[in-house]
Amino acid sequence: MTSRPLRRALRVTGGFWAAVLACTAVGLGVVDQASPLGGTHPSAVAVLFFASVVAVLISALTRRMHFVAPTARAQRVSRWMRLAPSFADLEVALALAAATYALLSVTGGLHSDLYPLLYAVVAFSATFQTRLAAGLTITAVVALELSLLQRAGSDGLAPAIYHFVFLFGALAVHALFLRGLVAANRRDHDIRVRSEVVKQRESARDYRLISVALGAESRAPRTRREEEQILQAGSVATISASIYHSLSLLHQALEARSCVLLWRGDSDSELKIKEVVSDCDAITEEPTIALSGVLKAVARDGQALTMGHCKPGQISYYEGAFDAGAFMGIPVIQGKHLRGILCLDRQAPFTEKEREIAERAAQQVLVAIRSEQVFSTVEKAKYEHERFYNASALLCRALTMEQVQDTAFDAAAAIVDYDIAVLTLHDADRARHRVTSVRVKDGAPEVVNVERLQGLEFRDNAGLASMVVKNKHYLPTGGAPRDSSTPVFNNKLRFQCESLLVLPLLSADEAIGTLTLASQRRGQFRKDVREMLGVISNQVAVSMQNALMYKRMETMATTDGLTGLTNHRSFQERFADLVERSQRHGHQAAMLLCDVDHFKNVNDTYGHPVGDEVLRQVARVLQEAVRKIDIPARYGGEEFAVVLEATDLEGALGLAERIREDVGALVLDSEQGTFGITMSIGVASFPADGADPPELIEHADMSLYHAKESGRNQVVCYRDFQAARKARKAS
Ligand code: GH3
Ligand code: MG
Ligand code: MG
Repeated sequence: MTSRPLRRALRVTGGFWAAVLACTAVGLGVVDQASPLGGTHPSAVAVLFFASVVAVLISALTRRMHFVAPTARAQRVSRWMRLAPSFADLEVALALAAATYALLSVTGGLHSDLYPLLYAVVAFSATFQTRLAAGLTITAVVALELSLLQRAGSDGLAPAIYHFVFLFGALAVHALFLRGLVAANRRDHDIRVRSEVVKQRESARDYRLISVALGAESRAPRTRREEEQILQAGSVATISASIYHSLSLLHQALEARSCVLLWRGDSDSELKIKEVVSDCDAITEEPTIALSGVLKAVARDGQALTMGHCKPGQISYYEGAFDAGAFMGIPVIQGKHLRGILCLDRQAPFTEKEREIAERAAQQVLVAIRSEQVFSTVEKAKYEHERFYNASALLCRALTMEQVQDTAFDAAAAIVDYDIAVLTLHDADRARHRVTSVRVKDGAPEVVNVERLQGLEFRDNAGLASMVVKNKHYLPTGGAPRDSSTPVFNNKLRFQCESLLVLPLLSADEAIGTLTLASQRRGQFRKDVREMLGVISNQVAVSMQNALMYKRMETMATTDGLTGLTNHRSFQERFADLVERSQRHGHQAAMLLCDVDHFKNVNDTYGHPVGDEVLRQVARVLQEAVRKIDIPARYGGEEFAVVLEATDLEGALGLAERIREDVGALVLDSEQGTFGITMSIGVASFPADGADPPELIEHADMSLYHAKESGRNQVVCYRDFQAARKARKAS
């Protein structure tokens, strides 16, 4: 009755125990009598044991050779299965030691001539077995050696010592040698890995995969133009390497004299020499050659041309009247356009099969170019998207109208290279558009008269911009002006450009204005660029509306709803600032406190709404009377305050008098007919009548009170009030 784990343990360790037994038997000297050497008859038992030891070795070696590592699942299930590889090694180690000593025992013991075999076994074990197995082999060897010594008596001491010295010396040399070998191997491996990494990195750079992995910050400082130049340089290098490779192969395979790739030049009558692989030094050094002779025929027909023999001078990539012999020209066609010609020449005519090969090479050239184009498009798009998201984030943060406009221009510049950008806003009530902001790129050619553009107003139906606002769709189609006579804003202003884009600023499905971009370079506003700019301009619209709303909220918080003048709270702040400023600059200032006389009567007689209208009219008089730097405010009820910057008392009194007269001259309407009003004004001057706003207000108020007391409809300054008070006290 054996349980499964026990069976497993036996299966895994059985051979090992057999080897242990074999070692023990050899160590006890049971095989010593197995050989006729030394004059004695071999004993049958010894021979049997000897055979058993050999059998154990054969079995161990066989098991080791056929050893299959237990599956991961088996290893998980059983600890014995995990130990199986180690036991297989140990079994071989012990069996080898036992068999070697059995052999040594029967061939003269410590004096055996076969000792080198022992060294070989130990070396084998140290080199190929695990450290544990090698250690066990050496331990077994030492034990067996000692057992031999013990059987040989003092006679064996010298050879045993000699064996030990030799054995451990050999082991030490071996270990050193092995370690050196391992270190050298590792170094070799390291060098190989490193050079492979360098090679990989270089080819990655060729294909510009590394720049893809670069972080945003490493790309950020580059301008769009720089980025494009880098991309272009990379693409050119990769294309030419690939083309050179194709040409070299073709040159070799067809045993051609020259293999030349010609590319269409700027003019139709020229070809550029793109790449040459040639054994001949008669190739022209000119960068371009004439499209003539056989080349002209290839370009005209757009078909491969093979000629058994060309007349000298017919192939224009050779200098002079070079006799080239046979020629083959393959057109390189992309879409329907001839991009170039792949040319080969040699002495012997080209066969049909060779033409096919060359045609395939021409295809290869196109594939290289096309994949590079795809690569650079992807790279470019990535760059643009990065900028696009940055621009969006900036727009979200812009608070004021100026910030929004500036950011809008930055955002557009991140996407496309424009010469001029213009923002317009549409006033639907007045059916007019207004240019609110313009940005001209540094050093850009003049696309339009910028001076006339600033602050330009134009009516609806005047040009592309008004059409864009009406249709809520960008114009012109394709991002290029169809003809320069179509006005962009109005027909007084002409744009000289090759690329033009007028985008609507759409917010909540309403076009609030336009973003116009123009460039003298052709094809600037491709489809993908237009789409991105479309999103940006909508974001600009939303940000603009936010800025407007923000501004409105600010106005609401600082102005009086009825009169449109600065309200009480804002007045206090501005007054304090003004006094502080005046103090700093050593300027005088003045404050007027104005109060409508008998206003209660106006309300009572004509009604509250008429009273309101009176307040509005008075506010208008104040606003018209003062300068831009002065602060007219509704102080409360029918009281108004005016603060005059950099004004002395005389000036303030003059203005107060004018205000009083103008208010008195107002003719006001009511249901009961027209009527007039009067106003009393108290004046206090800074710094003579007060050092800070509260004191100035108090003294202006006292003066006003005095004006009321003195019969209303008059202007009283604090100095007069003081004089009157003094006179009253004296009397
Ligand atoms: P005095 O000449 O002494 O200044 O006499 P007054 O009647 O103008 O003075 P009083 O302070 O007695 O009256 C001010 C009136 O102004 C009382 C109030 O009903 C009116 N009033 C205050 N604010 C408003 C407003 O916003 N609209 C209208 N229609 N009346 C207002
Ligand atoms: Mg009052
Ligand atoms: Mg009053």
